Amino acid sequence: MNNFDLIYQSKECKARLGRIVSLNGEVLTPAFFPVATQAAVKTLSPKDLNSCGVQGLLSNIYHLYLRPGIDVIEGLGGLRKFMGWKKPVITDSGGYQIFSLAKLIKVYKEGVEFNSHIDGSRHFLKPEDIIRMQFRVRSSVVLPLDECLKFPVTLKYAEDSLALTNHWAKLSQQAFKECLEKFAYSPLPLGIIQGSIYPELRKKSLEFLIETGYDHFAIGGLSVGESKDLRYNIIDFLSGNFSEGSLRYVMGIGEPEDILELVDRGMDLFDCVIPTRLGRTGTAFTDKGKIVVRNSAFRKDSMPLDEGCGCYACRNFSRGYIRHLINANEVLGGKLISFHNIWWFMEFMKRIRREIKKGSFRKFKKDFLAGYFENSAVLDSDKDDG
Ligand SMILES: [Zn+2]
Repeated sequence: MNNFDLIYQSKECKARLGRIVSLNGEVLTPAFFPVATQAAVKTLSPKDLNSCGVQGLLSNIYHLYLRPGIDVIEGLGGLRKFMGWKKPVITDSGGYQIFSLAKLIKVYKEGVEFNSHIDGSRHFLKPEDIIRMQFRVRSSVVLPLDECLKFPVTLKYAEDSLALTNHWAKLSQQAFKECLEKFAYSPLPLGIIQGSIYPELRKKSLEFLIETGYDHFAIGGLSVGESKDLRYNIIDFLSGNFSEGSLRYVMGIGEPEDILELVDRGMDLFDCVIPTRLGRTGTAFTDKGKIVVRNSAFRKDSMPLDEGCGCYACRNFSRGYIRHLINANEVLGGKLISFHNIWWFMEFMKRIRREIKKGSFRKFKKDFLAGYFENSAVLDSDKDDG
């Protein structure tokens, strides 16, 4: 079994409940996956992630290919065994990373040539190689190589780029079929929708992927600098063009307000580095907005990071203590806030699923956003510190 089931369609908006049935376990949607770019969620162990209720992770084949090398991960039993994680892992093709991190990039119809951002070594990767590598590491969900555009680009540039991404999607689909036989292993393939901020191109991209045989989709190239209005506009436009039973995964999106708006528009899956990236630098998510724990206002604060939170960090430590850890550059500080943030995101997604089921998602969204933004200005205001 390897699919996506629609469980419940909200009557008040496009929000829905679903289930990804993968080889490596089920995922209830809407879901949020933390990012394990280099086969680790920064500062958190699989035990930590499990206790937060994390259902799956996103890793990155470009990074894993460069370091430690696909042969190492393959030899050590595949990515999930390598990292001690039993639940599903999506591997990103690395399109975004090649185009944003690698140097001296040359793009050909056959693939992409670049210098490693780690040691400057020269590499050439074909779309077929990218698919094969994801099979070799036994990923649960695989993604084709795509060109991830910066923002802004002209319509002409976006059109030419989409032609290339489409060509690669086709080559990837063929490679996927060959790998199914060769590896006797069947991960879930997603097509990646590109087309920058141009609704017509996005639609063409989706149509091409459907014709090519993709049933489930990732939406790439968002959250690259465009306004929220443009972002929601693209999703609005696309949402009317998906078939009901298709999985819709919006890549790299993770601000709570974005998740709510995109769930409202029928999106199912999200990933983002922000819970751990902000956690490491001292920012915690709460229902009342983000709090900057470094802030001197918390120096003698005996409260937990988030009053209503039941996580280990909140049950055991004060803001004053965690602020001290962050200011003293103690690794534990970033770890505790990252743990809280991932916990908070998992609870947030659970609440979203519950409210959809109850038929009260729209009210939840309105009330949540009012509380989240009402106080964040106050809590965020004093960024001093000594
Ligand atoms: Zn907490």
